[in-house]
Amino acid sequence: MSFEFKLTDSVMYVKGVGERRAIALEKLNIHTKYDLLTHYPRTYENYSNLTKINDVFAGETVLVVGRIYNITSREVRGLTIINATLEDETGAIRLTWFNQKYLLTKLHSGMRLLIIGKAKYDSWNGLAISQIQSFTILEQDEEPELGITPIYPSTAAISQQVLRTAIKNLLASMPPLKEILPQELLSAQKLMPLDSAMRAIHFPRDAFELDMARRRLAFDELFLIQCGLMLIKRQTQDERLGISHKKNGTLIKAALAKLPFELTGDQKKVFRAVVKDMESKLPMRRLIQGDVGSGKTVVALLALLKTVESGWQGAFMAPTEILAIQHYEKFSALLTDLGVRVGLLSAKITRSKKLKEELYEKISSHELDIVIGTHALIQEGVNFARLGLVVTDEQHRFGVNQRSTLEKKSDVLPDMLVMTATPIPRTMTLTVYGDLDVSLIKELPPGRKPIKTEAKSLRSRNKVYEFVRAEILAGRQAYVVCPLIERSESERLADIEPAEEIFDMLSNGIFHDIPCALLHGKMRPRDKDEIMEKFRDGETKLLVSTTVIEVGVDVPNASVMVVEHAERFGLAQLHQLRGRVGRGAAKSYCILISDSKANVAKARLEILEKTNDGFKLAEEDLKLRGPGQFFGEAQHGLPDLKIADVFRDVEILLQARDAAEKFITDDDNLKYFASLRENLALAYGDKFSQITAN
Ligand code: ADP
Ligand code: MG
Repeated sequence: MSFEFKLTDSVMYVKGVGERRAIALEKLNIHTKYDLLTHYPRTYENYSNLTKINDVFAGETVLVVGRIYNITSREVRGLTIINATLEDETGAIRLTWFNQKYLLTKLHSGMRLLIIGKAKYDSWNGLAISQIQSFTILEQDEEPELGITPIYPSTAAISQQVLRTAIKNLLASMPPLKEILPQELLSAQKLMPLDSAMRAIHFPRDAFELDMARRRLAFDELFLIQCGLMLIKRQTQDERLGISHKKNGTLIKAALAKLPFELTGDQKKVFRAVVKDMESKLPMRRLIQGDVGSGKTVVALLALLKTVESGWQGAFMAPTEILAIQHYEKFSALLTDLGVRVGLLSAKITRSKKLKEELYEKISSHELDIVIGTHALIQEGVNFARLGLVVTDEQHRFGVNQRSTLEKKSDVLPDMLVMTATPIPRTMTLTVYGDLDVSLIKELPPGRKPIKTEAKSLRSRNKVYEFVRAEILAGRQAYVVCPLIERSESERLADIEPAEEIFDMLSNGIFHDIPCALLHGKMRPRDKDEIMEKFRDGETKLLVSTTVIEVGVDVPNASVMVVEHAERFGLAQLHQLRGRVGRGAAKSYCILISDSKANVAKARLEILEKTNDGFKLAEEDLKLRGPGQFFGEAQHGLPDLKIADVFRDVEILLQARDAAEKFITDDDNLKYFASLRENLALAYGDKFSQITAN
């Protein structure tokens, strides 16, 4: 009988793992053999030089192997001190452990140990190894493992030793990995073979080998993602599938004339790019990146009108109900006079069977020109008669796959426009949106005053709210943003006052005579809408909320934002939040209250005081927090990079992108595509399912 080795098999079958440890490994997101194989070391320790005990000098950090004897312990001022003697064939030396009483049950006379620690003189023992960094118990005849040793991300339930052994066993049982890259590419990029790299990343012989292995695996990771994105792009680059829109006509002219403002230079430039894409036979796949308040919505509106005047329908997908309604109201106000039929597909409507069916009917019979909605728009049952353009607002809220679901609603490939206010640094844009063409709106509409941002300590809170009160009495409105809704069970968050408590404190205290409201994500959509409406109408003056107001909400009269526990938010997120103010004529303020003593937290908030440039902030945020936290897995739809690093590996990223472009467009490489898809599926599951499926 022969068993085939499969990387997709459960990790349970790896020697040294078994059922019980497999469960513990789940905490590390390790389910399959592949997950274990790609559980890369977090760092390495270099245990290359074994010192004979006779050669140990004071002041040196040494690696010694020997047997221990004379294990004793004593208490000194409440501190447990364990002493032992370590002996090898050249001599003996004393060992000292401080305050690790539990070791008494682990250490036995005669045991072989590998010790790393610093030798010092002490008055009790003379020369002793007293700062013991790590020790490993060796079997009687086990050779100590020297060389570079991997240190893995681990948990309390899974020790380094267990991980090392499991991975070693996995590598021993694993047949050589099939090479996934063509030989020419390997030589051109000077890349190590995949099999050697995968083995060397865990147990490198030396620093050079480790470096080569890391480069190869980082290249693969970035290359795979790029190929995946380019395959998506390639699928859409088919002239037979695209819609070629008509030249701009009277509808766009009329709308431009009705707008209360002139487009900014950047808006014009971006719209020109969109027009060119839409008129071309190739399906448009364009991302508009523009800071909060830069005016992306108008560009989307014009693009939607272009599809309408060419005889098609447009869909506009917003990330939240509140935003969908807001867009709907603005669009209707402008477009109804122009004879454009705009519909809203909201939760409110889909809850009523009758309303829903009516709306679906209007969509499929082309009685509506533009439909605005949330996720509901991509649900089964919504069938557009002639879908010509899909706009997705705040794309980082949707995954790659959701995007494609909407596209499948049509026989032809509609043009697609994606808008995001998350100012993603270029390297990130390439990894996350590599399948899209990118346009930037950098210029803000004229007359915007920069938002004055100030970081304040908890002590100044009263003063801050007095200031807010003065602003409200002067006719303005204010937001107070809190990180939590209600009191948390978690100890870690125990000190954080939730929105509910802050609302009580403010509405019963300093703002007792001012209309206040509380808004949070757990409320029923209907209640949320009502609260938001009242705030927009100016009836409510102070809105205490969680981050539900983060995206897109537009209330020009709101000029102050206070963020409580500002240290709990990411920089990019705070920047998005403060974009809610500064939308009107009044001077606007964002006050960040925090009581955090951590220097990193302070440094972060200070960056916000200094700059209003979203891109700069995003770069800083990425540097401080790493890409995982920056996006949050759910938001961008692509998994975290396991080994590549978007800052350190910019060069590799660009090389990988070039290589991927050549690779995908060269038909000679078709024979590699099956294994490419296989590897994408292995590494990213169904994230790329639309291309891995066919
Ligand atoms: P975002 O890019 O954040 O989605 P919006 O499209 O919501 O920004 O625009 C923010 C505000 O700026 C809106 O009130 C909008 O009407 C206004 N606006 C957009 N373009 C211009 C312009 N060219 N001149 C003046 N105001 C503009
Ligand atoms: Mg917007």
